[in-house]
Amino acid sequence: MNVLVVNAGSSSLKYQLFDTASNTVIAKGLCDRIGIDGTLTHKQLITGKVYEVAVSIPNHTVAMKCVVDALLDADHGCVKSMDEIEAVGHRIVHGGAFFSESVLLNEDVMAKLELCRDLAPLHTGAHIQGIQGCLEVMPKTPQVLVFDTAFHQTMPQKAFMYGLPYELYEKHSIRRYGAHGTSHRYVAGEMIKLMGGKAEGTKIVTCHLGNGSSISAVKDGKVMDTSMGFTPLAGVIMGTRCGDMDPAVVPYVMAKENLAPDQMNNYMNKKCGFLGISGVSSDCRDLEAASKEGNERATLAMDMLGFQIKKFIGAYSAIMNGLDAIVFTAGIGENTASIRERALSELDYLGVEFDREINNKTKGSSGVTKLSTDNSKVQVYMIPTNEELVIARDTEKIVSEMK
Ligand code: ADP
Repeated sequence: MNVLVVNAGSSSLKYQLFDTASNTVIAKGLCDRIGIDGTLTHKQLITGKVYEVAVSIPNHTVAMKCVVDALLDADHGCVKSMDEIEAVGHRIVHGGAFFSESVLLNEDVMAKLELCRDLAPLHTGAHIQGIQGCLEVMPKTPQVLVFDTAFHQTMPQKAFMYGLPYELYEKHSIRRYGAHGTSHRYVAGEMIKLMGGKAEGTKIVTCHLGNGSSISAVKDGKVMDTSMGFTPLAGVIMGTRCGDMDPAVVPYVMAKENLAPDQMNNYMNKKCGFLGISGVSSDCRDLEAASKEGNERATLAMDMLGFQIKKFIGAYSAIMNGLDAIVFTAGIGENTASIRERALSELDYLGVEFDREINNKTKGSSGVTKLSTDNSKVQVYMIPTNEELVIARDTEKIVSEMK
C-alpha cells in the first residue's frame, strides 16, 4: 500500500510516500516557510531526482496541494494518479488521555483532537491544519492519526500523577503524558524481536536522545514510566530544554530575572540545556568539538546528560525489578559514542558490560548494532529509530481493516 506520511508543523510540512509492501520510501520532501513565503523541496528516491522551488505557500491546504502536485508530476513525481496514494498517516504530537493507539480520522476523533489543543497548542493547531489541508486536497483518501503520546498510555496512575491536588488532574488534565512514544515503541519492538519475539517477561530501558530526549521503562512491551512529563520539558537535560529541576526554581528565576510566565516558559525551552550550560551550542557535535579543545562547560553539559541517563536506567531497573536490555536511538543515541559510554560505564552492579571499541565505531549509519559483550547480563543495542515506518504500518493496518 502507498501511504503518505505527513508531519505538519506550524510553518513546515514534512512528507514521505511509503510503499509498505517493500518497506521503501518512494519520495519525500518538505514544504517550508508556510505562511511566510514558501519553499518546496521534493526528492524522488527511485530516480534520485531532486526538485526545489520557491512558491507561495500561504497555508497548509496550499502546502498539501504542492505535495500532491510534486508526487503526480511527470518529471520528478512517482505516481500517475491520486488513486495510487491509498492512505494518509499523520504524526500527532499530543493525544492527551483520549488516544492509546492510532485511529482512523472521523468527526469524533477530530472533536477529541480539538480538546488536545490546550496541551500542545502550537503542534495541535498545525496538525489540525495539515489534516484539513488533506481533507480538501484528497477528500476520498482515508486518514489515520498516529500519536506520540499513545505508547505511554499504559503507564499506571502512580507513574503518571504529580503530587498536586487531585482536582488539578480532574479539572485541567495535569499529569505525565510523555513524548517520542512512536520512537520508543519502534525500538522496544525491534529489541523484543532480537530477544526472541515474546514481549512478556522483558524489561527494557529505551533511550531516545536527540535535540529532545526521553527515556522509557518498557516492561512486557508496555511503558511503565517515561521521563518526559506534562510537556517535553521534563526529564534529562536536552539541546535547549532544562529537564528536571526543583519546581521552586521557576518562580525564583521569574522574580530575579523579571520574567513573565510566557517568557519563563520560552527560557526553559529555548535557552537552557546544552546551550545554557555550555554557552557554545545546543548541538552535541559542537559540544564534542569544544570539549576536545578543552572547553570545560561543554564537557560538563555532556557529563550531565550521561549522569542523568544513568540515573534513569537505575530508577527504571528498580521499578521493573530488573533489566534485560538498554536501547539507544535518535541523533545522539545513534551517533554519539561518548554519551553512550558515559551512561553505560560503571553499571556493573546491574551486569552491564559493553565493548568500548564497538561503541566507539557505532553510528546510526551502521544499522542495528549490539554494543554489549556476550558476557553482559543486560543486552545493549543501538537501534536507529524509524517513526515514519511505524506511522505507515499503522495506517496500512487500520485502512486494510476498513476494506
Ligand atoms: P530531533 O530531536 O530534532 O529529531 P535528532 O534526533 O536529529 O534531533 O538529534 C540531534 C542531535 O544528535 C544533535 O545534538 C546532534 O549533535 C546529534 N548528532 C550527533 N551526531 C549526529 C549525526 N551524525 N547526525 C545527526 N545528529 C547527530
